[in-house]
Amino acid sequence: MDFLQPTSWDEALAAKAARPEALPIAGGTDVMVELNFDARRPAALLDLTSVPELSQWAAGDGRIRLGAGVSYTRVIDELGDRLPGLAMAARTVGSPQIRNRGTVGGNLGAASPAGDCHPPLLAAGAEVEVASVRGVRTIPAADFYLGVKRNALAPDELIAAILIPPAAGPQQFSKIGTRNAMVIAVASFCVALDPAGRMVGTGIGSAAPTPRRAAAAELFLAGALEEAGLWESRADLPAAMLREFGDKVKAAADPVDDVRGTAAYRRHGLAVMARRTLTWAWNSYQEGG
Ligand SMILES: Cc1cc2nc3c(=O)[nH]c(=O)nc-3n(C[C@H](O)[C@H](O)[C@H](O)COP(=O)(O)OP(=O)(O)OC[C@H]3O[C@@H](n4cnc5c(N)ncnc54)[C@H](O)[C@@H]3O)c2cc1C
Repeated sequence: MDFLQPTSWDEALAAKAARPEALPIAGGTDVMVELNFDARRPAALLDLTSVPELSQWAAGDGRIRLGAGVSYTRVIDELGDRLPGLAMAARTVGSPQIRNRGTVGGNLGAASPAGDCHPPLLAAGAEVEVASVRGVRTIPAADFYLGVKRNALAPDELIAAILIPPAAGPQQFSKIGTRNAMVIAVASFCVALDPAGRMVGTGIGSAAPTPRRAAAAELFLAGALEEAGLWESRADLPAAMLREFGDKVKAAADPVDDVRGTAAYRRHGLAVMARRTLTWAWNSYQEGG
């Protein structure tokens, strides 16, 4: 197996163009598992850990540009205030060792429907910046996931960064697992409120072939909040509104029965998580958040 180790972004893109079959490796927390289990035997590995550009983040143009190689630990420590949904999700990933090595770019590269970054990226309206020697393009997160463990990258492309609007209001993330830590999501959900823009964002994980938004639930809630004057009054949410939001989130899912849970349990769990995360987010809005 060839081991390619570029030390700059330009070198990395040139290497991927010359060897499109080379498998990128960042934290290696997915790739090394696949190699150890002999699930993959790539002709070459393209090590991205010596590319300094990938491990940086910067704020500008109203967005955080998060380098694909920024670890979960750094998202939690450095961006928890600006990207609370993503940081909450990051706190649930694996163990401290996995959070030190694992990256948001790696989660997108793996494109597992259960990846914990996806719901907060969808809820926040994030975009994925991808590049090749041919140029740079940005792909809305909602269009990046094409199927189970399939994403929109061309063979010569790499993920450069994730472009995420800083939270415009409260965000909440919830994940059901079969235990409390070191667990792949049975189902997960993120909600993001944007009181100034009068908008609601959502993201569903591990309950469809790809992570996805619950668009009808977003529209319903934004409209219902507006109609009832709740954005202004910050009064308690009516139980019927919470219930309908949960039902619409549940209806957006398309889960399967598998070893981690049944489709029915996932649907039920999503409705519960939708109501709970919305309640938590609304409570912090009522408290001035
Ligand atoms: C014990 C354990 C627990 C885990 N727990 C969780 C969990 O709770 N939640 C969760 O979501 N995941 C979990 N994972 C999976 C994994 O940690 C995450 O998916 C992580 O985000 C992968 O990041 P990485 O940098 O290690 O990626 P890698 O393993 O280096 O790469 C993952 C994939 O992305 C591709 N890739 C990486 N960087 C790029 C790039 N810049 N451009 C293009 N492609 C790229 C690789 O080729 C590969 O296909 C766990 C893994 C382990 C081993």
